[in-house]
Amino acid sequence: MKNIVILTGSGISAESGISTFRGGDGLWDGHRIEDVATPEAFERDPDLVQSFYNTRRAQLATVKPNPAHAALVALENAWQGEFLLVTQNVDDLHERAGSKKLIHMHGELKKARCLETGQVYDWQGALTQDTVCACCQREGMLRPHIVWFGEMPLAMEHIYHALRKADIFLSIGTSGLVYPAAGFVQEVRRNNRNCRTVEINLEPTAGRSYFAESVYGKAGEVLPGFVQQLLND
Ligand code: NAD
Repeated sequence: MKNIVILTGSGISAESGISTFRGGDGLWDGHRIEDVATPEAFERDPDLVQSFYNTRRAQLATVKPNPAHAALVALENAWQGEFLLVTQNVDDLHERAGSKKLIHMHGELKKARCLETGQVYDWQGALTQDTVCACCQREGMLRPHIVWFGEMPLAMEHIYHALRKADIFLSIGTSGLVYPAAGFVQEVRRNNRNCRTVEINLEPTAGRSYFAESVYGKAGEVLPGFVQQLLND
């Protein structure tokens, strides 16, 4: 029985209609990353940051999982060894497709967190600086439960434990530019030189030389066939 770890990035949600992190212009949906995805940006202009994530949260009602998300559910359901799906995505498409063993290492759009107590709440609608936090009873204390640049990603101990035991590592739709996720492939190789490493992306990424195998194409088109092959092996 083999253990598998899968890392996904915004490319897996692209065919569902969600923009990837960096468009060709280097912006995230028209915004500079330092204006919407850092703790300093939130301190400087909380209304702008809240509104940016409110728009993204509302967009989730208009999109649905694509065949790439479904292929990972089929893989999880049929897999005999240990399975872990680690996503950098803050959308909810993996869980809506049916993925269960899933970690959102960069947080979730549909959660809010109290700045005072760290309490995390499920959140569906808009979040504003007027929203009163249920635990501290104050306005302006709830922030999006998103890991911003300069902050520590979530569940790293759990993730590294799985990476060290991995026999197969797949990296799907991620540019390999955002650390620590970009370093996962090196971590698995350090621990198990025989680990099968596969990059699945539209095009070769910055980290391509760390992967023994690659499949290039749209995730929704190439992943279902790749998963079928993996299950047949
Ligand atoms: P990125 O934009 O840096 O890279 C996206 C990668 O996906 C690129 O390498 C691109 O070639 C590839 N790609 C695009 N369309 C594809 C497709 N149809 N099939 C396969 N590959 C495709 O994004 P990243 O590496 O995920 O960067 C991580 C950051 O982006 C995280 O911090 C994450 O929270 C944030 N983010 C998340 C979402 C989301 O939740 N959907 C959206 C935008 C940004």
